[in-house]
Amino acid sequence: MKLLLWPALLVLTVSSPGLAVSTGDHAAAILPFGPRVAGSAAGEQARAYLEAQFRALGYQTRRESFTYPRFDDLGSDVRVGEQVLGGSALQDSAGGEVSAPAVRVPGPGTAADFAQVDVRGRVAVVQRGQIPFIDKVRAALAAGAAGVVIVNNASGGFRGTLGVRVELPVLGVSPTVGAAIEDGQPVTLRVRVREGQVQAVNLIAFKAGMSKPEVLFGAHLDSVQGAPGANDNLSGSLAVLEIARRAVGTPLAARSFFALFDGEEDGLLGSRAFVKDNPETVRGLKAMLNLDMVGVNVMPLMISGEAPLVAAARRAGVEASERTSGSSDQVPFRQAGVPTLFFHRGLDANYHQPGDTLLDPELVGQAAEAAFKIADEVLGAVPAR
Ligand SMILES: [Zn+2]
Repeated sequence: MKLLLWPALLVLTVSSPGLAVSTGDHAAAILPFGPRVAGSAAGEQARAYLEAQFRALGYQTRRESFTYPRFDDLGSDVRVGEQVLGGSALQDSAGGEVSAPAVRVPGPGTAADFAQVDVRGRVAVVQRGQIPFIDKVRAALAAGAAGVVIVNNASGGFRGTLGVRVELPVLGVSPTVGAAIEDGQPVTLRVRVREGQVQAVNLIAFKAGMSKPEVLFGAHLDSVQGAPGANDNLSGSLAVLEIARRAVGTPLAARSFFALFDGEEDGLLGSRAFVKDNPETVRGLKAMLNLDMVGVNVMPLMISGEAPLVAAARRAGVEASERTSGSSDQVPFRQAGVPTLFFHRGLDANYHQPGDTLLDPELVGQAAEAAFKIADEVLGAVPAR
């Protein structure tokens, strides 16, 4: 009986049914959900998974919802004969389908450039650069074009923003696609877009009964469309979970909030919503530590922020620099007067690309370790490990 009991007990304590235990396991479980675009089913699956992990560690969780309007490209392209050539709708473009000859517009696409060609009822093909997208599109509209294709001036496609809603389908394409469209050739421009309300959710984990955190560890869980977001930013999210795991049984657990923000990629919207909706909590924070892209070592872990926290980091034996770089979720906290540190390893080659499928659990662990030590120093608490 004894011999049978021991393995059974071990299984119970080491892994509750269905709960993975290491950062690598968590990544392997979450990445197949797909890109965690705010408001998507994949985003919710990842959040539910991580919520269960925090609870298994003995934390309570709270969901804070917020909504915002967003423009989505539902899949747009340009076709030459049977050939489907990819592209991305520019934000604020109208949707629509136009079959007409293509007209290559010389220069950057000013009104004078459009005056040199006849784009009436046709698809204007214009080069990116020199003047804003909206100026090219307004010139095209004034000249009577039925649609616009903007060709990138660097390799690959791009996602641009017009800034003002226009009644013309506008597609951004790579130079390769641009070169495949000949002057006078019939093309079909298909732009499918949607303007809708995003239902986004921040997930907060904390110890039961605790309402006044002194430290907030944060990372955004959402990713951009088309990118699985392993490094950006499942890496930071798993670092926050790892910090929470290490904090179990230490004073840090009862003095911290662990936040996974949504809507970061749409403009730091999750952290902004948190700061706005929790003024009391934010006022009491001694530090906000934000981890974004810490799973691929483009450069050694860079920790930067305000002087008092940089000093605390150095006392904890962690290198940090005094500057306020990086546009991520620490920004709304800093603007609200909270001392912040930003943990980051640089933008890797797969940043916002379909290739963002890898994170190194070792690097995630090191970032978590550094954040843990610094928070510990800030609180002046000795971890009971
Ligand atoms: Zn990010």
